Amino acid sequence: MSAAHATLDWREVDCVILDMDGTLLDLHFDNQLWRELLPRRYAERAGLSLDSAREQVLTRLAARHGTLPWYCLEHWSETFGVDMHALERELGHLIGARPGAVDFLRFVRARGLPQVLATNAHPASLARKLAATGIGEHFTDVISAHDLGASKEYPEFWQALTAAAPFDPARTLFIDDNAQVRGAARAWGIAHVYGIAQPDSRGPRLCADDARLLESFAELTGAAA
Ligand SMILES: [Mg+2]
Repeated sequence: MSAAHATLDWREVDCVILDMDGTLLDLHFDNQLWRELLPRRYAERAGLSLDSAREQVLTRLAARHGTLPWYCLEHWSETFGVDMHALERELGHLIGARPGAVDFLRFVRARGLPQVLATNAHPASLARKLAATGIGEHFTDVISAHDLGASKEYPEFWQALTAAAPFDPARTLFIDDNAQVRGAARAWGIAHVYGIAQPDSRGPRLCADDARLLESFAELTGAAA
């Protein structure tokens, strides 16, 4: 896919709403946390083989997929008897911005547009990631779904977001690596919705038929990739 067919006309955008994990930040951190470190620690604690622990962790995560508890560190600390905050701190060195993300934030800020970070991340995780990357300074609003009582997968989130940080969906750009969230955003009427081709820098390239997946933020800014 080339950057030559940019489709976004910035004259049609009054507001930018961005996801954090897998969109602005490398999803490698989160994948390592949930798929590698947590199963390992749970296996040690519960006296299970790594394979069996991983299977249990992934099965229990899948059962809560997309709901607020899925994104709640306390919920999983309790479920698995493992301190998720400590595990996040242990992997802190893996927290980092995706290529071009900070330039994109600067670009939007320079245009004077409201720029909202809307994340399902747990508030403590959000604070850790903002402290580690410094991206918080670029936003007019930083909103955790936990403070709104619903995850981005649900219309209740969008309703609450509209009340907290009013925006015109028809003139809003939204970028999120999660297809289910993109669907909810589109159902809310958000006009310009994009995904991310490779949310985890060491993971696979994704395919999606619901939205254009960005190889690079430069596809939206017209900058050289
Ligand atoms: Mg995400």
